[in-house]
Amino acid sequence: MTEQRDTIFALSTPPGRGGIAVFRVSGPAAGAALSALSGGPLPPPRQARLVELRRPEDGATIDRGLVLWFPGPASFTGEDLTELHLHGGRAVVAAAAAALAAVPGLRVAEPGEFTRRAFDNQKLDLAEVEGLADLINAETEAQRRVALDQLGGALSRVVEGWRRRLIETTARLEAWIDFPEEDLPAGLDAAVARDLAGMRDEMAPYLDAERRGERLRDGLAVAILGAPNVGKSSLLNAVARRDVAIVSDRAGTTRDVIELHLDLRGYPLTLADTAGLRAVAEEGGDEIEVEGVARARGRAETADLRLVVFDATQDLAAQKETAALVTADSLVVFNKVDLAPPPDRAAFATEAVFAVSAKTGAGLEALLAALAARAEALLGVAGGAAPLTRLRHREALADCVAALRRAEQATLPELRAEDLRLALRALGRITGRVDVEELLDVVFQEFCIGK
Ligand code: GDP
Repeated sequence: MTEQRDTIFALSTPPGRGGIAVFRVSGPAAGAALSALSGGPLPPPRQARLVELRRPEDGATIDRGLVLWFPGPASFTGEDLTELHLHGGRAVVAAAAAALAAVPGLRVAEPGEFTRRAFDNQKLDLAEVEGLADLINAETEAQRRVALDQLGGALSRVVEGWRRRLIETTARLEAWIDFPEEDLPAGLDAAVARDLAGMRDEMAPYLDAERRGERLRDGLAVAILGAPNVGKSSLLNAVARRDVAIVSDRAGTTRDVIELHLDLRGYPLTLADTAGLRAVAEEGGDEIEVEGVARARGRAETADLRLVVFDATQDLAAQKETAALVTADSLVVFNKVDLAPPPDRAAFATEAVFAVSAKTGAGLEALLAALAARAEALLGVAGGAAPLTRLRHREALADCVAALRRAEQATLPELRAEDLRLALRALGRITGRVDVEELLDVVFQEFCIGK
């Protein structure tokens, strides 16, 4: 805990040139640091003030900027905290950093240290910290909304609600374990079992197989599959409207998997253009190409969605290998319709057949609209719902559900209580609040007062 008493500072805006640069200083010496640089008394809490910031050792002006003073615990970190808003130039930033480093008791913050302090001071729990990280990394609207909700405690409230109920149930159970001379309240056993089953039912939808929250963080993986030269790279380029893949007339130029990250109507998609899936050995492809094809196959297997591309200028019968790649949820694309009409849709077991031209752009809008609709169906989170956004959450909740199931089946109250403690601990891992004993004591005391 001694480390907690250090005062830390860091540039909170990205390095480089910009309109402004913001330094944050957190810890017991934050106020002294602000006074030292501004040469005056601290401003009123939480009100911006324009000041001349000076080098403490010789009074030379560094810059003129806004400063803010947040006395703890009403601050991001829960400690005394100050913000210096300077002009965002490299020399200004360097001079301010040097001046701060010279203030006694200050040191440069380590990565994540401000947020770590916010967590240690119970300003944010673990799920909220993750929400903050996700918000900073959010690239699309859907990602932003979910991250903001998680930062605001949407997931934490759900988890804490369950934890609270589980603590109460556990306390009731432990009460009659600890006071065996008391008669068992009639129906308590059944009531406990009912509580537990009810909670399990509420948890089940969060463990949905779709992994919406996790996929939303990662982006939906879409693999573009098809034989060489059908126009996969051209399609990717057309979608991106920028050059990300090499387009050439020679067969098999896409040697590796090329990814394109897209924001499609607010949903994140990762389109992967893969090497043509042809039988390399037979056609004399080289080793690099063999490796490329292997990677492409791997991609196709792990993708959330497949775009299977056919060449409209070629006979469908000659594209059997490609047809074998079509799954029920694939999007089938006939490219080069500027040269030849697409074959009959009825040839496929899916409605999702699109006629496009990567060259002219014809049909691309409809294809993108269909992709967006799929993305929404796979990633969309109903308003207000708090999805699990990490594998970590999913594993903890699955552990909790398993422990609840064991508890329901336990024959002895002591064993049941032990399983409930394990369930509580698993839930606590999501928010990082694992002080089960402490809370249990509180509830237990309340419970016993009436006795
Ligand atoms: P890939 O091997 O499947 O990635 O195919 P490419 O994107 O490299 O395209 C192969 C060839 O087909 C190139 O010469 C492209 O210019 C051409 N091509 C791709 N899409 C179209 C299209 O929609 N219309 C026409 N006319 N040519 C296309």
